[in-house]
Amino acid sequence: TYVVTDACIRCKYMDCVEVCPVDCFYEGENMLVINPNECIDCGVCEPECPAEAILPDTEGGNEKWLELNATFSSQWPNI
Ligand code: SF4
Repeated sequence: TYVVTDACIRCKYMDCVEVCPVDCFYEGENMLVINPNECIDCGVCEPECPAEAILPDTEGGNEKWLELNATFSSQWPNI
């Protein structure tokens, strides 16, 4: 799965949301998150993010982002 990191905070672009084929982005107070249960790992959102906030969860150190994306996507509205 892919995860959104803190580089997303206050980024006003939503290009990632538009390209996601399974609509698995969720919006919170100041950043977006990806629902890891819905993400099909297609990777099309990653190059669309101007803030380079979207990364694969397999990259080192991204475990905490995976957890945060999972938690927040269960509490925040789908967009
Ligand atoms: Fe959506 Fe694909 Fe990005 Fe997952 S990797 S959030 S399915 S666009």
